[in-house]
Amino acid sequence: MAGADSDYYAVLGVGRDATPDEVKKAYRRLARSLHPDVNPGQEERFKEVTKAYEVLSDPKKRELHDLGGDPFSTGGGFGSGFGFSDIMDAFFGAGGAARGPRPRQRRGQDALIRVDIDLSEATFGVTRELQVDTATTCPTCRGGGTAAGTSPRTCEVCQGRGEVQQVTRSFLGQVMTARPCVACQGFGTVIPQPCPDCGGDGRVRTRRGLKVKIPAGVDTGTRIQLAGEGEAGPGGGPPGDLYVEIVERPHPTFRRQGDELHCTVTVPMTAAALGTTVTLETLDGPHPVELRPGAQPGQVITLPDLGVTHLRRQGRGALIVHLDVQTPTRLDAEQEDLLRKLAGLRGEEGPDVGQLAGEGQSFLGRLRDAFNQR
Ligand SMILES: [Zn+2]
Ligand SMILES: [Zn+2]
Repeated sequence: MAGADSDYYAVLGVGRDATPDEVKKAYRRLARSLHPDVNPGQEERFKEVTKAYEVLSDPKKRELHDLGGDPFSTGGGFGSGFGFSDIMDAFFGAGGAARGPRPRQRRGQDALIRVDIDLSEATFGVTRELQVDTATTCPTCRGGGTAAGTSPRTCEVCQGRGEVQQVTRSFLGQVMTARPCVACQGFGTVIPQPCPDCGGDGRVRTRRGLKVKIPAGVDTGTRIQLAGEGEAGPGGGPPGDLYVEIVERPHPTFRRQGDELHCTVTVPMTAAALGTTVTLETLDGPHPVELRPGAQPGQVITLPDLGVTHLRRQGRGALIVHLDVQTPTRLDAEQEDLLRKLAGLRGEEGPDVGQLAGEGQSFLGRLRDAFNQR
């Protein structure tokens, strides 16, 4: 095939459907790195790239190239390199033409790492040093995948197209199929001497330390996106992003509901009846909780701003204390005597102290009634 010794799309590393702008950008990028002033010894490659740009930036020449012709041959037009596959491409349009070699340089994948934090860290935020295990661009070949002093070569099997076409006979007649070139894995180029450190992939796995600022207010399932900290792309491609997913460990005393914290404080019956101040160990340190005389089981005491910090707005949730009252179980003779006296004084003796709760009355309401019985 004439002109097939150079597939100009492969030379510029762009797809067959590349826009004029993409062609221009690809050429600029390559020209910068291959310019003889910058990179002596790459003159041939620089010329090749420039030639490819000359063709692909000119719609007429590009069309001719797409049809398998040689835009530099004197005759122009549909030259000798006009093959069956090209006719198929011309007939069926972009479907066949859109394939072409795939670029070695691709964006890396996103990575996910899970981090365990405790409630206090979720409330106040924390900076964590994480060990991240990802692919990074190979420092030896800087992602190119080639051994020092060598460069990729156009694949001889597919002539740089990245695919090989096959004509098979079927009841429909001749059928054209294209499959990725096995010799170059569809890249259109082969690396004759791969970089010894990465084997040609352009990437190596490394473990690195990464400082992550976890903001106050995160919760289990919150993901923090770190742009460009994911897996490096093959062939020196840009890295993906790293997502840090938060897993909050359960707290021994506080249950979290959104940004509210809930806990249960149990006090003896006598303390509930007489009133007291208990000291609650909150995330902010010891905090007094005042119980008025006659505190009831199930009573709720709200302590504002002692819960979890709101993630995207000012302020904090509340800490909500649920009160439980414990009835003494093992009474000695003196205690029993005192309680019987108290019951007598309050008229809380005999079979009439119980009261049936009315329909629809809550359990806590019934408890309260039972306690207040006189
Ligand atoms: Zn390498
Ligand atoms: Zn090939």
